Amino acid sequence: MRKAAQVIVDVPTMQTDQPFTYLIPSDVEGQLAVGMRVEVPFGKGNRHVQGFVLAIEEVAETNLSAQAFEWKEILSVLDLKPVLNTELLALADYMKEKTFAFKITCLQTMLPSVMRADYRKYIYLTDELEETWQEALFDGLDEIAWEDAVAKNILPQLMQLRRQQKVDIRYEVNTRNKVKKIRHISAQMTFEQLEEARLDLRKNSQKKEQLLTYLQQLGSEALTSVKEMKMLGFSTAVLNDAAKKGWLTFVETETYRDPFADQTFEKTTALSLNDEQKAAVDQILTSVDQKNNKTYLLEGITGSGKTEVYLQVIAEVLTQGKTAMMLVPEISLTPQMVQRFKSRFGEQVAVMHSALSQGEKYDEWRKIERGEAQVVVGVRSAIFAPLDNLGVIIIDEEHEASYKQEETPRYHARDLAIWRGAYHHCPVVLGSATPSLESRARAQKNVYERLILTQRANQTATLPTIEVVDMREEIQNKNNSSFSLALQEKLQDRFVKGEQSVLLLNRRGYSSFVMCRDCGYVLPCPNCDISLTLHMDTKTMKCHYCGHEERIPYRCPNCDGDKIRYYGTGTQKVEEELQQLFPEMRVLRMDVDTTRRKGAHEKLLTAFGNHEADILLGTQMIAKGLDFPNVTLVGVLNADTALNLPDFRSSERTFQLLTQVSGRAGRAEKPGEVIIQSFNPEHYAIQLAKAQDFEDFYQKEMYVRHRGDYPPFYYTVQITASHPEENQAAKQMFEIVNELKNGLSDQCILLGPTPNAIMRVNNRYFYQVIIKYKNEPNLQPILKKILTDTQRATAHGLKLSIDSEPMNFI
Ligand code: ADP
Ligand code: ZN
Repeated sequence: MRKAAQVIVDVPTMQTDQPFTYLIPSDVEGQLAVGMRVEVPFGKGNRHVQGFVLAIEEVAETNLSAQAFEWKEILSVLDLKPVLNTELLALADYMKEKTFAFKITCLQTMLPSVMRADYRKYIYLTDELEETWQEALFDGLDEIAWEDAVAKNILPQLMQLRRQQKVDIRYEVNTRNKVKKIRHISAQMTFEQLEEARLDLRKNSQKKEQLLTYLQQLGSEALTSVKEMKMLGFSTAVLNDAAKKGWLTFVETETYRDPFADQTFEKTTALSLNDEQKAAVDQILTSVDQKNNKTYLLEGITGSGKTEVYLQVIAEVLTQGKTAMMLVPEISLTPQMVQRFKSRFGEQVAVMHSALSQGEKYDEWRKIERGEAQVVVGVRSAIFAPLDNLGVIIIDEEHEASYKQEETPRYHARDLAIWRGAYHHCPVVLGSATPSLESRARAQKNVYERLILTQRANQTATLPTIEVVDMREEIQNKNNSSFSLALQEKLQDRFVKGEQSVLLLNRRGYSSFVMCRDCGYVLPCPNCDISLTLHMDTKTMKCHYCGHEERIPYRCPNCDGDKIRYYGTGTQKVEEELQQLFPEMRVLRMDVDTTRRKGAHEKLLTAFGNHEADILLGTQMIAKGLDFPNVTLVGVLNADTALNLPDFRSSERTFQLLTQVSGRAGRAEKPGEVIIQSFNPEHYAIQLAKAQDFEDFYQKEMYVRHRGDYPPFYYTVQITASHPEENQAAKQMFEIVNELKNGLSDQCILLGPTPNAIMRVNNRYFYQVIIKYKNEPNLQPILKKILTDTQRATAHGLKLSIDSEPMNFI
C-alpha cells in the first residue's frame, strides 16, 4: 500500500478546478496532514506549483501499476501543521458554491496574504560549463536566483547559454510567512563557574566583570534580549567574546509584531445596562447557552449602546471558555473602536485590519491559530479567522457594502458568518441603526429575530435636531457657494463658542449625472425608476438597467431653464471655498488624498480631538464611529448626489449616510444640530432621515422595491463579460442571455444585455446582464454550464464574472 494525497493546485482555470492525486514520498508520510500546503509538479513541463491537501488516501500497489499514466509525487511539504482546519476547508466548499469562484481562489482567500504562493525563479546549469565561466556567472555554484542574475547584470549572457541549451529556468514555491525572532542571551554557567571565570580576568576588564555579575544575577533559567544588554552598555564584541568563552549563549525566540505596542489601554468594566440593552444581552446569551444558531438583528439608534451590548455578550462567552468574533466595516475600525475592545479584553484581542503590514497580519493570525487570542475584531476578511469553539459572531453596521468583496471570490461576510454560526451552533448578531432592507425584511419574516434599542444610552445625550435647507432657493437668492446662508451662520456661531463642526461632502456619484440648478430636475429613464447616467466618452445619457440612451440635454426638459449642469464638486475645492469664507477658521481635510499614508487617518482624528481645528471636512469616511463630545454641528453639503445614482439602493444609501453622519453631533451634554443641504428636499429618503425614523423609511422603501421588482422581493445575479474587442464582449453577452432565456422560467426578469456604466476599463469592454429571480432551481446549473461553455472564449481574452447579490450596479 502507498499513500496518496488529493491536492488542489494553484492554477486557477476551469480545467484544473478539481483535486489531483499525488503520491506521498515515504519520508514525509508521517508528517503530512489534510489542510497543509505542498509543492507539486504540474502539467507537461512539471512546473512547480503550490497546492492544498484536501484528503489523504491509500492506493493499492496493483492500482499503481495498472494506471496508464505515471503517478507524480509531492515535491515538498510547506507546513509543519495544517493551515486550514476541517471547518475552513468545508467553508471553502460553501463559498465556491455561493460565489462561482475556483476552489483554489477560495482557499487562498482564507489565509493571510503572506501565505499565498510566491514563486522564485532560478537559472540552473544543465550542461558542463567552462570553469572560469561557471565562476564568473554562478559564483562556482550550479544555479543562481533570477534576482541575483538581474543584480549582477548577467542576464544577456545567461540567455545566450539558454539558447545553447546549457542552462534552464526552474521555479520554486516560496512561502513568505517569516516569523519575527528576537535574540536573547542566557547564562551558560553556574554561579560558581562564573565566579571562577572572574578570577581569570585581567585587570581593567571592568565590562567583563560587570557582565559576570549580571549573568550570576540572571541565573540559568532567565533570558535577556540582546537589545536590552546593549542598553545596559554591553557591546556586541563583549557579548560575542563571552559566548566564545562559554559564559553565555544566544537564544532566539519567536515574537509577534504588535501594532499596538506603544499604546496603553486602561482597563474598563461593564456599564450597568438599561432595560433594552439588558433584554438584548439576555436574549443573545440564551442562544449561546442553548447552542442555538439563531441570527439576531440588533436595531438600535446611533448612540443607543450597541457596542456595550456586544462587549457584555462577548465577556460572558469568554467566561464560558468560548471565543468570539466581531466584524466592523473598514472605516469604522477607528482607534476609538480598537480602544474599547482592548480596554475591556486586553491581550485576548486580535485585531485584523487592512492598515496592518503583511507581517503584522500574519502575527495576529498566528495568535488566533494558536489559541492565544480569543476575541477577533476585524474587517470583512477576519471572517476567516481560525477561531475554534466560537460562542458568538457579531457584525456591526451590518448594512455596509464593504462586507461584500468586490473581486473574486465575491463573498458576503454575512453569509459566511451565518454558515460558521451553524457550524459552531452559536448565534450571529447583526447590528445597525439602519439595517439593510434585506436583513430588516428577514426579521419581518422571522428568519432573523429582531432586538430593538430606541434610546440613547448616555442619559445626557439626546438626538440632534435636523434642518433641511433647500439649495434651489439659495441659488434663486444669488448664493452660488457650496454653503447655504444657514450653514454659514451656524459655522460662525460654533467658532465663536469654541465648539467644533463636521462637514460631509458626499463623493458618491461625483459628476456622474446632470441636474438642473433651477428646479433640481434629473433626467429619468422612460422605462425604469432610476435616473440616467452621463457618459462622457459617448456624450450621451444612458440607463444602466435597460440600455435606453439619449443625448445630453442643454435645456432642462422640466422648466426649460438653461442652468443644467454636471453635478459634483471635490473636497479640495470646498476647502478653498471655506478658507475664503472664514479665513480665521482652522480646517482639517480628510479624504483619500489626505489619508493615504499609514497612520494619517489616526493623526487627523487625534488632532481634531485635541481641538487643533474648528472644522473637520471630509468624505464618507468621517460619517462613522467618531465620538467627539465637542462636535455640536454637522453639515451635509450635498445630500442629493448619491440619491441620483442609477442604483436601486441609492435611497437606502442616502438614508443610511445621513443617519450615520447626524449621529456624530451632540454625543455628550451639549445638544447637536444638523444641516442637510439638498436640491430634492422633499425626497422621502431626506425627509425620513430628518425625522430619524428608520421604520417609516423601511415601509416606504419596501413599497418602492416591491413596485420595481427589486431586492428583497427578488434575488439578483449580475453576469459581466469583458473583452478587449467590443463586439466580442457584446456577442458573448448576447449568447449568454439567449442561454438564460432558454433555460430559466418565465418568472425570471432579465435586464440587459447592456454595456456597463464605464464601458471601457483598462482597454477592455464590459457588457452585463442582471437576472432577477425568486425561486429558480435551474439557475445554478445554467450558470455553471455558461462557465463551461465559455471556456474556449476565455482562452481567447474573454473574462466572465458572476456576482450573486451585487452591491453596486454602476
Ligand atoms: P452605538 O454603538 O449604538 O452607537 P455606543 O455603544 O457607542 O452606541 O454607546 C454610546 C455611548 O453611550 C458611549 O459613550 C457608551 O459608553 C455609552 N453607553 C453605552 N451603554 C451605556 C449604559 N448602559 N450606561 C451609560 N452609558 C452607556
Ligand atoms: Zn431604463
